[in-house]
Amino acid sequence: MDPIIYLDHAATTPVDPAVRKAMDPWFAQDFGNPTTLYAHGVRADEAVEGARQTIAHAIGAQRPQEVYFTAGGTESINWALKGIALERVRGHILTSAIEHSAVRETCLWLAERGFELTILPVAHDGVVDPAEVRRALRSDTILVTLMHANNEIGTIEPIEEVGSVLTDSEAAFHVDAVQTVAHLPIDVQQLRCDLLSASGHKLYGPKGTGFLYARSGIRLGPLLHGGGQERELRSGTHNVPGIIGLAKALEVSTRLLETETQQLTALSRRLIDGILERIPGATLNGSTERRLPSNVHFTFENTQGEALVLGLDLAGICVSTGSACSTVSLEPSHVLKAIGLSDEQALASVRFTLGRSTTEEQIDAVLEVLPEEVNRLRAMSPRAL
Ligand SMILES: *Cc1c(COP(=O)(O)O)cnc(C)c1O
Repeated sequence: MDPIIYLDHAATTPVDPAVRKAMDPWFAQDFGNPTTLYAHGVRADEAVEGARQTIAHAIGAQRPQEVYFTAGGTESINWALKGIALERVRGHILTSAIEHSAVRETCLWLAERGFELTILPVAHDGVVDPAEVRRALRSDTILVTLMHANNEIGTIEPIEEVGSVLTDSEAAFHVDAVQTVAHLPIDVQQLRCDLLSASGHKLYGPKGTGFLYARSGIRLGPLLHGGGQERELRSGTHNVPGIIGLAKALEVSTRLLETETQQLTALSRRLIDGILERIPGATLNGSTERRLPSNVHFTFENTQGEALVLGLDLAGICVSTGSACSTVSLEPSHVLKAIGLSDEQALASVRFTLGRSTTEEQIDAVLEVLPEEVNRLRAMSPRAL
């Protein structure tokens, strides 16, 4: 058995063996620069364009040219938001209170530069109400940015409904789909979005890879100036092995999607039921219906999330207190605050995110260790006295 039990797939995933294999020739064998004229480089160019087609097909894009390669989710998001905003000079931006820091911080940065920002609240289950989007929409709204599914509590947002609300609006609609591309069926026509961001390392592809979908005709400014790659919008020599790996990872995940969804649904159900059965004072956060099949997120009252993570680590179990990006600070998560948790409850929360290699035995092992850890912490807590 695997010595570690990895339940932090929302933070990152291992590279699939088929992905590594597909990437391998592009490092030292077919290492040519795709922008050169000789056959060695043309081969790389053809491979990059093949990858673009694979991705366009997987997300329902009308043309491969609507897919742009980037160095990850954060980059795609920064590009989408700044590329829309800076082209329009001023205007109103609409987002939600539970976005990933890549969206949140970019919106705040734009607000400091004169854009007006509305941050919509969410319900206790973490769902954005499309009617609230309609109410907040203004004639000068240039951009609406929402996540498809939340990385902490796994809530799936009503993107299609928001897309319908926006049909008659001039606003560009960006969706942070980093947690859902390859994990839920994705069709950009059905979602009615203009821009969509994804990241390779969240879908069993290499780190430092990603893509931005931008619908033809959308007015998007460039991210990087230079040699003019990616239709003059994102200059820089292509990360050929990374791009090949990203497309391969999406291809593999799309093929496995249905079976994996069933497996993850059953496994997360087992973990949720097991926790509720064995641990008093445990509350499941997020929505029960609108939820990623891989996500389990609990508050264990009178404990400390950080201490639980470290305790489980000693037992070889990797879990998280929430966003990987916020674990450096002991601030309670803005997502948990937005769904109405107190600071104390937010800091007593743990996220388990299951993945391709998760087994029933692993879940059962967690259900053995976790109650003991929670009890140990509660026995030390002053509130237990
Ligand atoms: C991980 C993540 C990002 C950032 O993606 P990177 O590729 O790590 O930069 C953005 N949004 C969400 C929802 C994420 O989970």
